[in-house]
Amino acid sequence: MTTRLLILGGTTEARRLAERLAGRADLAVTLSLAGRTLDPVKQPVPVRTGGFGGVVGLADHLRQNAVDGLVDATHPFAAQMSRHAAAAAAAAGVPLLAIRRPAWEPVEGDRWLEVESVAAAADALGPEPRRAFLALGRQELAPFEAAPQHAYLIRSVDPVEPPLAVPEAAYVTARGPFTAEDDVRLLTEHRIDVVVSKNAGGEASYAKIAAARHIGLPVLMVRRPAVPEVPAVATVEEAVAWVDHLAASREKRGV
Ligand code: NAP
Repeated sequence: MTTRLLILGGTTEARRLAERLAGRADLAVTLSLAGRTLDPVKQPVPVRTGGFGGVVGLADHLRQNAVDGLVDATHPFAAQMSRHAAAAAAAAGVPLLAIRRPAWEPVEGDRWLEVESVAAAADALGPEPRRAFLALGRQELAPFEAAPQHAYLIRSVDPVEPPLAVPEAAYVTARGPFTAEDDVRLLTEHRIDVVVSKNAGGEASYAKIAAARHIGLPVLMVRRPAVPEVPAVATVEEAVAWVDHLAASREKRGV
């Protein structure tokens, strides 16, 4: 009996889960991407790309494709998708599991100022000109146009088009993971005096935080948005166990 799984992805955890489940005869796994990255990393299972059309669209998709289990392995800042997943899974009667990566916590030597949003981070840079490193999604840079007195270094996976409408901005296109050593060099070369980051959690993008600590730079850390309370695990390993349990219980019930 085949158990059909839909993984909402765009994260390392989603890809790792797909790697762990690919090739299993008892599962048919599809990974869903938002389509934000122009040339996404190759995935080990079939991929579908683009929005579903809100809660109703996702619920229809779950029914039409006879999905037996939904895994929300989206980015911690993709809160809308997580809300839609919770509502659509409930509407379609499909079991849902979220993989919620723990947030980063400040450690000795960190100089964080936590803010509620990217716009609040742009505001918190203050009136005096600073040299800020922005490692944010390229769709999220607009608030910094309201603070053109600062010089920006922007790192993104895809080029920022059009560029930010500010007098001084430099761009680096690169795909993580990065090392703290590389990021110390980058921040030093560009004479950065403040880092702006979302509290993504995980290892792939932590290097800039470790680098800031090493150099003694302040970090404007954007807090995570609230996500719905659904059954959740922190690791891919636990998600595999949930899938095993789901597949076994369907087998037992003969559905
Ligand atoms: P979002 O605001 O939660 O989602 C907006 C819409 O995009 C959703 O309502 C859905 O459209 C579609 N969508 C999102 N994830 C999807 C997926 N896995 N499969 C299919 N459709 C998906 O999320 P976002 O706009 O992608 O990003 C918000 C924040 O998350 C940003 O801070 C971004 O940098 C960060 N982030 C996202 C990803 C990612 O892969 N999505 C990766 C890294 C970081 P419909 O309502 O039409 O279904």
